[in-house]
Amino acid sequence: MGTTEGQDPGVYDVLVVGGGAAGLSGALMLGRSRRSVLVVDAGEPRNAPAAGVHGFLTRDGMEPSALLEAGRAEVLGYGVEVLEGRVTYAASTDDGFVATLEGGRRVGARRLLVTTGLVDELPDIPGVRERWGRDVLHCPYCHGWEVRDRPIGILASGPMAVHQALLFRQLTADLKLFLHTASPPTDEEAEQLAALGIAVVEGEVTSLEVSEDRLTGVRLRSGEVVPRGALVVSPRLAARAGILTDLGLETTELPHGLGVHVESDATGLTAVPGVWVAGNVTNPTAQVLASASAGAMAGAVINADLVAEDTREAVADHRARLSSAAGTRRS
Ligand SMILES: Cc1cc2nc3c(=O)[nH]c(=O)nc-3n(C[C@H](O)[C@H](O)[C@H](O)COP(=O)(O)OP(=O)(O)OC[C@H]3O[C@@H](n4cnc5c(N)ncnc54)[C@H](O)[C@@H]3O)c2cc1C
Repeated sequence: MGTTEGQDPGVYDVLVVGGGAAGLSGALMLGRSRRSVLVVDAGEPRNAPAAGVHGFLTRDGMEPSALLEAGRAEVLGYGVEVLEGRVTYAASTDDGFVATLEGGRRVGARRLLVTTGLVDELPDIPGVRERWGRDVLHCPYCHGWEVRDRPIGILASGPMAVHQALLFRQLTADLKLFLHTASPPTDEEAEQLAALGIAVVEGEVTSLEVSEDRLTGVRLRSGEVVPRGALVVSPRLAARAGILTDLGLETTELPHGLGVHVESDATGLTAVPGVWVAGNVTNPTAQVLASASAGAMAGAVINADLVAEDTREAVADHRARLSSAAGTRRS
């Protein structure tokens, strides 16, 4: 069912905030269900700095922008509208939601699917931001293969540094854990690192050495430069939750101080009826395939929720018509 006749043309069945893998997959399910859908996307997907999307079966290595372009073409084919822009505010109304876009346009919707992703808060070390997604990395599954056998450093910038070191040891034998500002490993961790031949380097990392647009080393406060071809960091994962907090939702701390996210059930439904989330805003460790899958699930469940509402209304109308017809026959 599209926008109901007589309804404000600005009211969609579903407003999807964010057009990454999660949002576009949700829009695909909804468009195929003949829902009127607007996707508003600010165009800053999390993996934009990376050269390719890895670990996505049948799309391995595809450029992130090409994947989203293909996704947009698919949803447009089902009548979904896609708008470049940013939703700056959202509120509940008596019969749904109203969102304000940058520039002032207001959009009404019966349901919201928020897939705004997250911000990787990087360690404040000169060079890290510039190299992020290229030879400063976080995820062995996203780009570990691409740096295999290189001298790799792990920066102990988060609570999972030793875990990351163990994972990256699968990809290279030349691995060093830079303690930076972290406490030394526990006895158990030190034993694991030693058993796998992972050297522990003490001292704060103050900058990265780069030559001909490639990372060549890590500089310590002592002035020593340790040659490295890639550096693994643990950003703090901060859900982009502004729209959701407008609606009364709160962010929740992730285990081990990894960051914050917005809680939802297995279908993406939040604590606010009518508001679903999918992808990194709720599951910060979801890769592209898992984010797309969660978006598709949320899209299908939103459609079912709208079907239930449409059916309730149709039954009420039907009963009213029958009762009015019976009244006319009696009189
Ligand atoms: C450097 C790097 C490399 C990665 N490589 C891989 C990889 O190889 N394989 C893999 O599977 N995963 C990879 N990932 C993880 C991948 O980026 C995420 O799994 C994926 O982006 C999550 O999809 P999403 O739709 O939840 O969020 P995103 O892709 O981040 O999309 C969210 C969208 O919402 C938009 N948005 C935010 N706020 C608003 C708003 N208020 N109004 C409108 N739009 C808004 C954003 O601009 C963005 O376009 C990588 C991550 C990083 C950091």
